[in-house]
Amino acid sequence: MKINLTFFIILYLSSAVAIAFPQNNTKPGGIAIIAVAPSTSSKPFVSYHKKPVALVKGRTNWLAIIGISLKTKTGAEHITIRDKRGKTHHKSFKVKPYKYRTQRLTIKDKNKVTPNKKSQQRIKHEFILKNKLKNTFSKKPPQLNFIRPTSGRDSGRFGLRRILNGKKRNPHSGMDIAAPSGRAVKASAAAKVIFVGNLFFTGNVIYLDHGNGLISLYAHLSKINVKKGQHVKQGKIIGKVGKTGRVTGAHLHWSVYLNGNAIDPVLFLQKHKIRKKRGK
Ligand SMILES: [Zn+2]
Repeated sequence: MKINLTFFIILYLSSAVAIAFPQNNTKPGGIAIIAVAPSTSSKPFVSYHKKPVALVKGRTNWLAIIGISLKTKTGAEHITIRDKRGKTHHKSFKVKPYKYRTQRLTIKDKNKVTPNKKSQQRIKHEFILKNKLKNTFSKKPPQLNFIRPTSGRDSGRFGLRRILNGKKRNPHSGMDIAAPSGRAVKASAAAKVIFVGNLFFTGNVIYLDHGNGLISLYAHLSKINVKKGQHVKQGKIIGKVGKTGRVTGAHLHWSVYLNGNAIDPVLFLQKHKIRKKRGK
């Protein structure tokens, strides 16, 4: 217990020096970082489309870190800020236009492109489960300085409009990293494992909860090294690259969710630092 406490004090002091934030980029599938209250005031509650959003204490302000859905239209979006006394006000941000490219792929397993009746049933059940997982909101403040989960070439960027075997499918909800089967997959940041299993499209998959609605997903794995409920540190080897689920070959599919919306994981790798006063 004593060791744990010392550990947390050290963590707290080091995090007080500098916080790495993801990149503020208000494209559909991007992130909006908005100052919602002075950091001297008590922690407010912030919501976007009726869902709670991640909130961190910056040097001068409480900052809301909002995930913008890929489906969002260009224009103004609004957030609601409620202070400790229950008084609410709104702030807005502008979603800028962005054109994602198209990617055409050929999948050998035709049932993964046009699923049969039995597979459709399975997909329906898994859709509900996946929706629940990506909307997990735990109170723990999130670790924001993500690391790349595995080494390898970027083989499929986030947001690509996908044409599979000539048929239009959902846009790409994460980034693909080409890597051979068996290469280690690491946790992007400290987290709690909220799901491990095999799903129709993702194959063997792990969901990590980093806190405050920040979730990451690692798909198509050949091996899973962690269990549901386990706490992992950043960089912990959680599994191995594979080619399970809907794939053209071995790679890691990595998704990042904020307030239930899949956002471009690259924004978590191109971060900028906001300085905080030491010991504050
Ligand atoms: Zn992918």
